[in-house]
Amino acid sequence: MAFLSRPTKTKESTCTHAPQTIAAPSGAVCEECGSQFSLRLCTECGHVGCCESQAGHARQHALTHHHPVIKSLPLSDEHFTWCYECNRYV
Ligand SMILES: [Zn+2]
Ligand SMILES: [Zn+2]
Ligand SMILES: [Zn+2]
Repeated sequence: MAFLSRPTKTKESTCTHAPQTIAAPSGAVCEECGSQFSLRLCTECGHVGCCESQAGHARQHALTHHHPVIKSLPLSDEHFTWCYECNRYV
């Protein structure tokens, strides 16, 4: 599975935004406000931010830095992946 070029948007059903390597979380709290629960990890750079029912720093980061794919923390079996570009779970 070695892609020579980035996959293009041919299918709407496939999210092409997720990086091949998931970045490690920068810490265990929101980088902006220090929240310790319902955190989201930026898969691109490892930024940790809080969810939208708090101050929404994960979303803010995703939109500001164009890093659309986030994962819920902790990365347990039940964690989810969301793409802000596709606006859905991926
Ligand atoms: Zn996507
Ligand atoms: Zn926050
Ligand atoms: Zn990021």
